[in-house]
Amino acid sequence: MRFTAFSDRAARMVRHPGFYKFAVLVAVRFVLSFYKSYFLFYFVSNKLRLFNGLVLFSGGGAVAYADARSDPSSEYAQAGPKKKLVVLGTGWAGTSFLKNLDTSLYDVRVVSPRNYFAFTPLLPSVTCGTVEPRSIVEPIRNIMRKKTGPIRFSEAECYNIDPTNKKVLCRSTIGTNLDGNGEFELDYDYLVVALGARPNTFNTPGVSEHCHFLKEVEDAQRIRRSVMNCFEKASLPNLSEEERKKNLHFVVIGGGPTGVEFAAELHDFVQEDLSKLYPNALELVKISLIEAGEHILTIHGGFPDSASNCVSLSRFDKRITQFAEEKFQRDGIDVKTNFKVVKVSGDAITMTNSSTGEVNVPYGMAVWSTGIGTRPIILDFMKQIDQGNRRVLATDEWLRVLGCENIYALGDCATIAQRKVMDDISSIFKVADKDNSGTLTVKEIKDVLEDIIERYPQVALYLKTKQMKDFLDLLKESESDVVKESVELDIERFKKALSQVDSQVKMLPATAQVAAQEGEYLAKCFNRMKFCEENPEGPLRIRGEGRHRFKPFRYRHLGQFAPLGGEQTAAQLPGDWISIGHSSQWLWYSVYARYMLCISSSM
Ligand code: FAD
Ligand code: MG
Repeated sequence: MRFTAFSDRAARMVRHPGFYKFAVLVAVRFVLSFYKSYFLFYFVSNKLRLFNGLVLFSGGGAVAYADARSDPSSEYAQAGPKKKLVVLGTGWAGTSFLKNLDTSLYDVRVVSPRNYFAFTPLLPSVTCGTVEPRSIVEPIRNIMRKKTGPIRFSEAECYNIDPTNKKVLCRSTIGTNLDGNGEFELDYDYLVVALGARPNTFNTPGVSEHCHFLKEVEDAQRIRRSVMNCFEKASLPNLSEEERKKNLHFVVIGGGPTGVEFAAELHDFVQEDLSKLYPNALELVKISLIEAGEHILTIHGGFPDSASNCVSLSRFDKRITQFAEEKFQRDGIDVKTNFKVVKVSGDAITMTNSSTGEVNVPYGMAVWSTGIGTRPIILDFMKQIDQGNRRVLATDEWLRVLGCENIYALGDCATIAQRKVMDDISSIFKVADKDNSGTLTVKEIKDVLEDIIERYPQVALYLKTKQMKDFLDLLKESESDVVKESVELDIERFKKALSQVDSQVKMLPATAQVAAQEGEYLAKCFNRMKFCEENPEGPLRIRGEGRHRFKPFRYRHLGQFAPLGGEQTAAQLPGDWISIGHSSQWLWYSVYARYMLCISSSM
C-alpha cells in the first residue's frame, strides 16, 4: 500500500487530519522506540504496525510466533487435529482478531466479500479525493501471508449461520464456479461473527434508490464521481438557474460524526478545489445538513437499545455541538435541525418539521448517514437462537453469543449485554456469605468486592460517579444511621445498598475503537484458551462453581473526534476533556498513542 504523498493535492493533504494522523503516528512510533528498549521490537514490529502510516493494529506472524514461545500458555498448544475456527468479516473487528490470533493453534478459515480491510475513519476524505482509496485499504492476504499455521480466505458472503449443525453456508461474491453456483459450507468448532452492520434507512421510501451511503470504499468512490457529475451537469448549456441550483444542492441526511465530517470535507473541496475548476458554479452551490434531533453531533454511532436502559458512552459534549453548528453557519452550510426526512424521490427530498410542516427540497446529490441497522443474516440468526425480540445480537461480557455454544460476536454486529447486579443479587449474597450465617459482614463483602467489580463494572463506575471510596460509602448512602465496619447486612439491606448501581451499565458505541479492542481481546483469549481452562484467571463465578476462564472484556474509551473542515477539529477525551481548534488533532493522536500503550499492557 502506498501513500499518494506527492500528488497535486500534496499541499491540501499536509493540512488534512489524515496527514497529521500519518505524521503523528510516525512520530509516536519514533518516540515510543525510546520509551523502553524492551518495547522497541514489540511496538515497531508488532503493535505499531502502521497501515501505510495510518493506523495501528498489532500482528505479524514472526511476532506472534515469538509471543507464543514466551507465553506460558504455549505449552498447552493442541496436540492432534486443530480445531476449526471460522471468522466471518474482515472489518475492524475481524481484522483485529486475525492480526492478534496465534494462527498456528487453529485451522483458520476467513470468509468475507471484501478481501481487504478498510480504514473507515478516512472514508469521508476519499469522497473528495483528499486521500486515495488505495491508501486506506490493506489486503487481507497480505495480513495472512505474515501469519503461521493453516489459514485460508474465501471471498464470499455467509448467508446462513447454522448453530445446530455447527456450520456456515456461504456463496462466492465473484461469480459462479464450474460446478455450480459458488455455494459452499464450512464446519466450525468455533465461530467468530464480525459481520458489521448495514446503513439504516428506517424504511424511508426512496432512500436506497436515490441516496448514497458512506460505509464502504466503493460508496466513497461513487460519491466522488457523483459530486463531479453534479458540477458537470450544472455546467451544461441551456439550463435554467433553477436547474443549475438543483444540481448543485448537496444534501447530507444525518448529523452524526460521519455526516458532519462529510459535509465539512465537501465544503472544503468546493471552496478550495472546485471553485477554481467551476468558477461560475460557486455561488450556486448549497450544502444542507439535515438532522432529526435538536442538534448535530449528539451521538456517536451505535444502536440506541431502548430495552437495555443503558447509558451511552458516545455522546458528544454540548460545547462541541455548539461549536460545530456555529462553524457550519459561518461556512454557509445550511444546518436544518428538527427536520425528519420522510421520503426521497429522484427530484426532491421530502421532510417534515413541527413548525413548517412538510417541505420538498430539490437536490442534486444526497448522502444518507443516519446510523446503522442489523444485517438480515444476523436477524435470521437471532431468530434461530431465541434472540428474535432484540434489536442487536447480544453477547455476554466474554463476547460469547447468548444462547449459543462456541459462537462469538464482536464489533458493530453485536452488543454486550452486561449482567445486572440486581438480577444476580441473591447469588452474589450467597457467594459473599462464606460462613453461611445469612448476613454479611463488611469483611465478607470486602473479600469478594474485587471479583464483584470485575464481573459487574457498573459497581466501580457507580462508586466513581458518586465519588465514593468503598463499599462502606455505598452503605452510608442507603442507610440513614451511621454505618460502622462491624455492621452485618441481611439480604434486604444488601439489596438496598446496591439498588442504584445498575444505572451505570454502559452501552458501547458502534465504533472502530470498540471493534478493534474486542478483536484483540478475543484473539488473546483464543491464544490462551487451553492454558486458562486449567489456570482460570477471571472473576469468581456468581452462578456457578470456581472462576471464569478469562477476565471479561473491558473497553477503554479513548475519546472521540470530529473534523469540522477548514483544519478545525473537535476532540473529546475521557474525563470530559474538550479541545476545539487546530491543536485538537494533536490531542487526538495522543489518544491513539495511548491506545497502543493500553493494548500492550492489557494482557
Ligand atoms: P465492519 O468494519 O463494517 O466490517 C464488517 C465486515 O464483514 C466487512 O469485511 C464486510 O465485508 C464483512 N461482511 C459483511 N457481510 C458479510 C457476510 N454476509 N459474510 C461475510 N462477511 C460479511 N469509528 C471510530 O471509532 N472512529 C472513527 O473515526 C470512525 N469513522 C467512521 C467513518 C465512516 C465513514 C464509517 C462508515 C464508520 C466510521 N467509524 C468510526 C465506525 C467504524 O468504521 C465501525 O464501527 C467499524 O467498522 C466496525 O467494525 P466491524 O468489524 O464490526 O464492521
Ligand atoms: Mg456471613
